[in-house]
Amino acid sequence: MQEPPPYHAPGRREVAPQVTVDTSDHGPVTIPEPSWCLGNHRDGVARIDITHVGPNHVLTLATREGPAVHLITALESRPFITDSFLRGPFVAVEVGGAWH
Ligand SMILES: [Zn+2]
Repeated sequence: MQEPPPYHAPGRREVAPQVTVDTSDHGPVTIPEPSWCLGNHRDGVARIDITHVGPNHVLTLATREGPAVHLITALESRPFITDSFLRGPFVAVEVGGAWH
């Protein structure tokens, strides 16, 4: 069964969320903001360092002393980085205090 098209009130347009970051090398850069991003963008970074980051997901293991944090993951994308994999989104994993 096909879903009905989304309703749009007459005279209103659906506008995709965007964020503007004032970069140190390209001035204000406006890009689409993914729905999963926490929106914590700092001004003054280089455009290549703009990063969308989602909330942390903590994975725990059951131990005799109770749940122990095993690792932490977060959805991330870096829209201007040269490595196409990192333009993502991809899952960043924190192990032993370092993000991979
Ligand atoms: Zn973002």
